Amino acid sequence: MKLQQIFQDLSQADIHTIEQSPGLLIFLPMLYVAWSDSVLTKEEVASIEQKILKQDWLTEDEKSFVSKCLQPEKPPSPKQLKEWLSVIKRAAPFIPNNSRKSLASLGLEITRISDQAREQWQSETAQQALSQIEDALGVITTEALDDLFIEGPRDLPETFEIPARLDVEQFSQIHDGKSHTIKQKLRQLLQSEDFRKEHAADRDSYRQEVLKWCQVLARAGYGSLSYPETYGGRDNMRDYFATMETLSLFDLSLTIKYGVQFGLFGGSILSLGTRKHHEQYLKDVGTLALPGCFAMTETGHGSNVRDIETTATYDQESNEFIVHTPSPSARKDYIGNAALHGQMATVFAQLIIGTDNHGVCAILIPIRDKKGKVLPGIRIEDCGEKQGLNGVDNGRIWFEQVRIPASNLLDRFAQINQKGQFNSQIANPSKRFFTMLGTLVGGRIGIPLAALSATKTGLTIAVRYAHRRRQFGLPGQPEQLIIDYQSHQKRLMPLLANAYALDFALKYLTDRYLDQKPGEGREIETIAAGMKAYCTWNTTHTLQTCREACGGNGYLWENRLAELKADTEIFTTFEGDNTVLMQLVAKSRLVEFKQEFNDINFIGLIKYIAKQAATSITEMNPIITRKTSVEHLADSEFHLAAFTYREQHLLTRAGQRLKYRIDAGMNSFQAFNECQNHLINLAHAYIERVILEQFIIKVNSIESPKLKDTLNRLCQLYALNLLNKYKGWYLENGYLEGVKSKAIRKQLTALCKEVRVDSYDLVNAFSIPDKLLAAPIGVRGG
Ligand SMILES: Cc1cc2nc3c(=O)[nH]c(=O)nc-3n(C[C@H](O)[C@H](O)[C@H](O)COP(=O)(O)OP(=O)(O)OC[C@H]3O[C@@H](n4cnc5c(N)ncnc54)[C@H](O)[C@@H]3O)c2cc1C
Repeated sequence: MKLQQIFQDLSQADIHTIEQSPGLLIFLPMLYVAWSDSVLTKEEVASIEQKILKQDWLTEDEKSFVSKCLQPEKPPSPKQLKEWLSVIKRAAPFIPNNSRKSLASLGLEITRISDQAREQWQSETAQQALSQIEDALGVITTEALDDLFIEGPRDLPETFEIPARLDVEQFSQIHDGKSHTIKQKLRQLLQSEDFRKEHAADRDSYRQEVLKWCQVLARAGYGSLSYPETYGGRDNMRDYFATMETLSLFDLSLTIKYGVQFGLFGGSILSLGTRKHHEQYLKDVGTLALPGCFAMTETGHGSNVRDIETTATYDQESNEFIVHTPSPSARKDYIGNAALHGQMATVFAQLIIGTDNHGVCAILIPIRDKKGKVLPGIRIEDCGEKQGLNGVDNGRIWFEQVRIPASNLLDRFAQINQKGQFNSQIANPSKRFFTMLGTLVGGRIGIPLAALSATKTGLTIAVRYAHRRRQFGLPGQPEQLIIDYQSHQKRLMPLLANAYALDFALKYLTDRYLDQKPGEGREIETIAAGMKAYCTWNTTHTLQTCREACGGNGYLWENRLAELKADTEIFTTFEGDNTVLMQLVAKSRLVEFKQEFNDINFIGLIKYIAKQAATSITEMNPIITRKTSVEHLADSEFHLAAFTYREQHLLTRAGQRLKYRIDAGMNSFQAFNECQNHLINLAHAYIERVILEQFIIKVNSIESPKLKDTLNRLCQLYALNLLNKYKGWYLENGYLEGVKSKAIRKQLTALCKEVRVDSYDLVNAFSIPDKLLAAPIGVRGG
């Protein structure tokens, strides 16, 4: 590297001085940091000067120049500081990581890359002296170095676009995964004239617009993707998921209306019904000739649907069901597609024959005629304005002794025989109900996929904005990009890593669901429940952070973040309330202990705990709890061991705590309630371990070194961010010592900074076309 290149902001006279006394360069970073950070006292200067004067590896000119630069009564001018900084910043990109340890080593590197190095500066005496001088300056080296290595603003052309550093296409392929073709087709379709968003501000028109979009999709075959070919479908659930995911880049009301019609309503007919229902309805559902609802929730019973009150009483004489809303709390509530467009509903009700209640069943009930007129015995009310998703017509439904042919019972799991008797291959009503719900798990996978798309949109907007928006800076310098503020990196980079982590985990879940083998159902349902909760909470948190990261601009409707926040908020509640789902996850994990909780076998428990204790002894070796090397902190084996330890520890302790209570005579409902917070932590720990595991597997499967390296860094960021979040727990449990916990925090900061460099490309890899992004602050060149 030629002298002129890194010294291009200096005058010819300064360059000449450096050529005459190149040792000055060694002190440049120290002098710059000492003066830009503080005012040196006379005593400090005297002690440093003395040290410098003793160094025979410096020329007399060099010594006197450095002394001159250290005079408290004559500090360097702002112009001089700026010139020093310019030399350091121009040299910074060429300085290898291992020379970024101290300001002195940085200075020595500058002499090397500007072809001014001298052998005597490498001597041990010189190195020791430099380190003492650096200490005497009282500079906190790590922070000072962090500031110096902030990547300088890239030269931005008039219309803003940053040249790619990564092979963005390669990363995009990872996001599209096995569904590239359909995602690409949909991205194009959604940019066509048919999908112009014109009426989002007016609720009534917006609802019609969303219906029209659904009709366009149905005409193009997207409605029946997951249905069997015989009924006009393509038997392709993967494509259905990809559609939910891609529609969410454009409009979330569309995603939800699409999901209610083709996923919940159609899916319930497909999964809970039998051939006669499929033949009669599926084609019309897929083409939207028969708009429908999924009516499970009641005003009195949201999360606890097993105890809904609506009744479907069998009348043997007429071979009909009489469906009735027995009380105000039994009205169906929040039902998508009910307020305006639905003509039929899958209604969940208690199946009554004579005096026997056979538990919850699902039954198809027409609610409007073809012209949209509400049918006799049915009352419908609009839920009105909502916080978001106002393109979906949610409504309330009451039934007044409505008579329905018995053949409308979705009878895959329970039938009424010719004698009017109840029959089911699953005798236990509760088990039957959960089996029914289990078949609907696909809907639950669509929600986190949609939520993740909204997250990606938010991150694209916020990260692009941060690469363009400038605030504050050194006098006379361009203001600094906000992406270069440490706190901004800490806010956004872990969320970017989360988006990648969740993407891989959802692909894993989708594959497991689609390639399900016998006996895997419960585990898949557990992961789906956990991922739904985890992803949607992550979306809420990420979008709030993105909004704040864009300041006032983030609050403007035109910039999409407000809309995304409003629309995705409810994702944490519908398709299963997150807190309730996390309890299901924890309970399912406890089954690993024992099938029925009341039966926990004492010996089994002791054995299990003994196994855990053995693991702890290996991992809680004092050398490991204190190990702070960068290699160790970056090691995925360490990350996974730490995550697994937390999960296993919480699981074991949950088992012990519950057993203790049940043994003492407490009923299991109460015992679970007393351990609820613990159980929710356990569910988080489980899902986080699954996500990390999948991320590591993904990184290991990549061949391209650059791609692997970048993903590996994101994976480390995901892991260390969580270890930092839970450091209190790890410290409490002796898994980490203070020194290691601090080192994790430091490494996390370093990783955020490293990922910042690629962050622009990493959001571009989400492949969200500007037209769909539709946020002036988020589009390229905006
Ligand atoms: C916009 C929208 C669209 C919807 N679409 C449909 C639809 O198409 N079809 C349909 O059937 N339903 C639909 N729903 C209903 C939705 O599924 C329910 O709102 C959801 O299941 C939660 O029920 P809830 O509102 O009664 O809340 P609740 O169950 O009453 O929960 C309230 C609070 O109590 C907490 N809580 C509840 N139980 C426990 C517990 N055991 N332990 C600890 N905390 C607990 C929850 O975490 C929550 O914070 C929709 C809802 C909305 C808002």
